[in-house]
Amino acid sequence: MKNILLLGATGSIGKSVLSVINENKSELNLFGISLNNNINEATKIINEFEPSFIYIEDTATLEDFINHNQLKDIIHLNGDGELKDLINHQDVDIIISAISGFAGLKATYLAASSGKKILLANKESIVAGGDLILPLAKESNSEIIPIDSEHNAIFQCLSGEKGVDDVKRVTITASGGPFINKKLLDLKNVKKSDALNHPNWEMGNKISIDSATLVNKCLELIEAKYLFDLDEKYFDLVVHPQSIIHSIVTYVDGSSICQLSKPDMRIPIAHALSNENRLSINFDSIDFTNLELSFQEFPSDRMGIQDIAREVCNIGGLLGTIFNAANEIAVENFLNEQINFDEIYEVIYRTFDKNNMSNDLSLESINEVDMLTRIEAQKVVKSIA
Ligand code: NDP
Ligand code: MG
Repeated sequence: MKNILLLGATGSIGKSVLSVINENKSELNLFGISLNNNINEATKIINEFEPSFIYIEDTATLEDFINHNQLKDIIHLNGDGELKDLINHQDVDIIISAISGFAGLKATYLAASSGKKILLANKESIVAGGDLILPLAKESNSEIIPIDSEHNAIFQCLSGEKGVDDVKRVTITASGGPFINKKLLDLKNVKKSDALNHPNWEMGNKISIDSATLVNKCLELIEAKYLFDLDEKYFDLVVHPQSIIHSIVTYVDGSSICQLSKPDMRIPIAHALSNENRLSINFDSIDFTNLELSFQEFPSDRMGIQDIAREVCNIGGLLGTIFNAANEIAVENFLNEQINFDEIYEVIYRTFDKNNMSNDLSLESINEVDMLTRIEAQKVVKSIA
């Protein structure tokens, strides 16, 4: 039996993880959960899975929970010290990092220092702090297994190989999002509801907007560079509208290996949660006799954002923190209907500044650069809105 600590349990990834646990109760136990403030969803999870611990980030929500909680058997926690204790609890076997955005960095950092197995969904923590997190995980012997579908696909394509020495290219696929085949010029006045309406995946709001802008693929390029320790030059970003092939690894001898499945996050999650044998889940099979797969180039009018991501890969340090924070502020303002869709790019381009980079790499310096970048990005928003 493996004890799981699910960070970000009330979100979209959290829901998929819970579904995989539910189908594999003899092997997986939900030991603890964390969330920000969605206490209704948390109560349902507690009633169904009876975890021993709940960590609530938002203090007011915690007080509310304590005052109204009829669920006496669960231990509730709050504050950085208690989060650290929970992550390091001797009974936790697997930590799932599924908080959305930069808010997940603290937990991913603590997980990376714990020496435990980490299943990583929170790509923003790697984009913003990859140069800190990866060495830390290595030092503490924490194994990081990606559950982002593309990275999990690459991980599966690399399994059985001796590292990445024989890799010639890695092709990361992108669905193209809800505005596939549309020119950026025509996207000025798209509605928030259209941008959130992803054709293939059901996801949280932030990543849905990242998918619509294709910034998600750029974050994933940086995530892949760190997770697989490969130069950005190895990676191609290619649009694959069906979201069936989740990524492709081409070896020096000419063989290309890919992973296929219907777009369902429970599949990479089940893979990452499996031990010696694969876990069994109910899934929607691919009808191979009736399968159409197509590919197209990354849209040329969005290449500027890919160039930024490649620069982040090459320079590293705190540049990813800047890129990530600029994007998060842009997405937040789009979701609050303060800026138009096309202005998300403008906020990123105008905020991205590589001249002010400090070499100090620590959780404190990342938090500081994140905060300063948010202030800069908000100024750009104000000048636009
Ligand atoms: P959601 O918005 O659906 O869920 C986010 C989760 O994080 C919730 O549990 C939320 O709690 C919690 N949370 C938010 N802010 C904080 C905070 N300040 N402190 C602690 N917890 C917080 O996001 P997704 O599940 O869609 O995405 C999670 C991560 O996984 C992201 O990094 C995303 O890029 C990545 N990912 C997601 C995929 C998907 O299919 N959804 C696919 C691949 C990667 P509460 O509910 O209380 O607000
Ligand atoms: Mg992905």
